[in-house]
Amino acid sequence: MTTSQPLNELDWTDLAGRTLACCADIAACTEEPGQITRTFLCAPMHDAHARLDRWAASLGLQTHEDAAGNWRATRRSDRPNARTLVIGSHLDSVPNAGAYDGVLGVVLGVALLDALKDTRLPYHVELVGFSEEEGVRFSVPFIGSRALIGNAGELMTVTDAQGKSVAQAITEYGLDVAQLADAQLKADVLGYLEMHIEQGPVLEAEDRSLGLVNAIAGQSRLNLTFTGKANHAGTTPMYLRRDALTGASAFVLAVENLAKSTPGLVATVGSLKPLPGAGNVIPGEVQLTLDIRHARDEVRLGALDQLLTIAGQIAEERGLTFAHELRMEEHATPMDPALTALLGEALAAEGQVATPMVSGAGHDAMLVGQVWPATMLFLRSPGGLSHHPDEAVREEDVEAALRVGTRFLKLLAAQEEAR
Ligand SMILES: [Zn+2]
Repeated sequence: MTTSQPLNELDWTDLAGRTLACCADIAACTEEPGQITRTFLCAPMHDAHARLDRWAASLGLQTHEDAAGNWRATRRSDRPNARTLVIGSHLDSVPNAGAYDGVLGVVLGVALLDALKDTRLPYHVELVGFSEEEGVRFSVPFIGSRALIGNAGELMTVTDAQGKSVAQAITEYGLDVAQLADAQLKADVLGYLEMHIEQGPVLEAEDRSLGLVNAIAGQSRLNLTFTGKANHAGTTPMYLRRDALTGASAFVLAVENLAKSTPGLVATVGSLKPLPGAGNVIPGEVQLTLDIRHARDEVRLGALDQLLTIAGQIAEERGLTFAHELRMEEHATPMDPALTALLGEALAAEGQVATPMVSGAGHDAMLVGQVWPATMLFLRSPGGLSHHPDEAVREEDVEAALRVGTRFLKLLAAQEEAR
């Protein structure tokens, strides 16, 4: 097995240190002094790009900002008819964010090309720092990755809270919206790699540095309403009540039961609003939400059907009515089996556990995975914490990701060479 041979003598600790230093450098590019807030097309994004440019230029990469505000860096292969590997993640953030969500994946991409700066690769590499993934400014996520796959044109008229359109925001940022079509990567793409912090507690609980992602969960979000009759809490005997909240409570526990007994299913009632909401009034109406996710669409949709049936039964038994409204639905995105198996091989060769896991959160790989083979590598999130200033990553895990990523790019090179 060639895969068990040690990688060349590289100072991995130094490279991990430089990766984290670059993330800290980019964290200083913010709209809000004292915290990290970097939304789509904000002026400080230029500074973030400039900091990436510095490292990329030292490796001889060609960089530019495309018309959607994505940071792009290209390494060309000398092989005729070479295909392209895309490595990406996002550079925008939620308000008052941590320093690693998204950013780490982009910086790791640069660091991998640093590790391989003296190694010939039989494929081109396109590094992408997506301009928009979080959906903060325009309430629409993935604008950067949509532009890369040529799917952002219809979003140009969407407006932000100030009434400014995406097209206007692009112009104000200093880019030419007429060039949007050029943001689309028109290349023979062999695959897409995204490295991202887990943003959850699983890797830490299992004492693992890294995780191999084999699917991004699909999700459904609904608004639900149980309606009964509001009445006096003192004068209405128990047998004459139509209490919407006791019905809703039975439903909340049914959601938990079904999710606990269905492998891989997560389901959450995150909001529950009894009306009129007074201490001495029987709740006449309850509005609640349901968020349900699974790696396989048929499992999620089957569970959702079951829960809606249960809700109807609870309502009937208690003299209530029940209504629901679907707010959002995203299909599950399986990662590419071949590319994911190769990443698993790289993990195993570096002594890491290669048991696959599902991403419960959405990522750019969902969009990119629609058109190109995609795979994802997770890094442990200490405390499972993300979208928070205390979001962290361990240096040893960054080092492990660099070793595995480098190994993966070499395995991919051997595979491309044999084509
Ligand atoms: Zn992210």
